[in-house]
Amino acid sequence: MNLILLGAPGAGKGTLASYLIEKMGVPSVSTGNILREAIANGTELGQKAKAFMDAGQLVPDSLVIDLLKNRIAQDDCKKGFILDGFPRTIPQAEALDTIASIDCALSLEVPDEVIEGRMTGRRVCLKCGATYHVVNNPPKTEGVCDVCGDTLVIRKDDKPEVVEQRLATYHAQTEPLVAYYEAQGKLKAIDGTQGIHQTEAFAVAALGL
Ligand SMILES: [Zn+2]
Repeated sequence: MNLILLGAPGAGKGTLASYLIEKMGVPSVSTGNILREAIANGTELGQKAKAFMDAGQLVPDSLVIDLLKNRIAQDDCKKGFILDGFPRTIPQAEALDTIASIDCALSLEVPDEVIEGRMTGRRVCLKCGATYHVVNNPPKTEGVCDVCGDTLVIRKDDKPEVVEQRLATYHAQTEPLVAYYEAQGKLKAIDGTQGIHQTEAFAVAALGL
């Protein structure tokens, strides 16, 4: 099964993808990883991509699509793959349709206010890497790491204005993909607010695994 995961940043796609990789026995294909590998290996496409990045430009969709086409032609994708971080726009989805047959787009639905609560409540310890949440997983003493006693901080990505900006970008550019795949009869939407295990159970049922 060739699967796309859709959902806002912070909806829990990464956690669900890790589970589905095991459950389905297929690889996760990340365009970010493919780009990094191609550049590290100095392939022709990698060199082209690097030239754009060195110039401070976005790598064009057509180049990403060529890289993706090579990647999904490899043996480990014969049983299928889970696309991670792509497509993010309608033009990317249209280009993807020319190189792959997508069986299902699984949309992980979490309201913005729930995502904002999850992300803005995160606290991390920069010294030891421990993570906390002010409501769901608070440290014993407010603002202090249980493990090493260092002061907890809010990561830049978790600040309310950054979270709001990322959600706005998602709604403008990526959410239209839900309608795109629905029109193709490939959309399955599941509730992502009921905890990790329930989300996994919803996904298994929706995908008929
Ligand atoms: Zn710590």
